Amino acid sequence: MSEVIKVSNLYKKYGTVVALHNVNLKIKKGEIVGICGPNGSGKSTFLRILSGIVKPTTGYVEILGGVAGRKARKHIAYVSENDIYYKWMKIGELLSFLRSFYPSFDYEKAKMLLEDEGLDLNKKVGELSKGYRQRLKVIMAISNSPEVILLDEPFSGIDMLSRERILNILKEFLIGAERTALISSHFVEGIEEIFSRVIFFKEGNVVLDEDCEAMREKYGKSVKSMYFEVFGGLS
Ligand code: ADP
Ligand code: MG
Repeated sequence: MSEVIKVSNLYKKYGTVVALHNVNLKIKKGEIVGICGPNGSGKSTFLRILSGIVKPTTGYVEILGGVAGRKARKHIAYVSENDIYYKWMKIGELLSFLRSFYPSFDYEKAKMLLEDEGLDLNKKVGELSKGYRQRLKVIMAISNSPEVILLDEPFSGIDMLSRERILNILKEFLIGAERTALISSHFVEGIEEIFSRVIFFKEGNVVLDEDCEAMREKYGKSVKSMYFEVFGGLS
């Protein structure tokens, strides 16, 4: 499998706060990577740097053969943890807007997925619950058929049903499709099944980087129990 992301000596400082210490890693095509760790461990910073919207202080990120930034962005989708769409926009209007803005946007696919999720095109973004707003963001991002998708906390603060639905949408999009995903989360329970590999961040450092299958074989542990072990939970 070929490498799609190469991170070398990545270091990021905001004022006096060091968000990432010295991160080195490689991600291969087709991997579905969980970027896990407690709040403040550097996950969002890491994904923002990969997406090209934040510049590293020092170090280097190569993504799809180029430096993280504008050029590579066409094939990369970054889904921020924040709300990104105008509240006053109707979902149907948003759909038309994205179609006109992105030549590769698959309008029919998006429309079908939105309908499957019960997202009424006449509803305004602002009328949706968080779970539905997250589903909307994920659907819009995958409808551009990105080669690499970076999702920041897509499962945070949503109900179980929305979590299952988003997991299913992502599985459908990713599994067996040679697409690469990095998904950050401050918890692993209920979502670990989707990951082929997990990387744990602690205070800006990578403290664990394992293939999930290998982890189960090597340590006989689930991602969840490993998380508790690394971050000091009770089990
Ligand atoms: P996570 O996503 O794991 O919660 P972040 O990447 O958001 O972690 O944050 C890592 C560290 O960097 C934290 O100490 C946070 O307070 C700090 N940080 C993140 N973004 C900024 C910013 N824009 N300005 C100043 N400090 C920041
Ligand atoms: Mg974050």
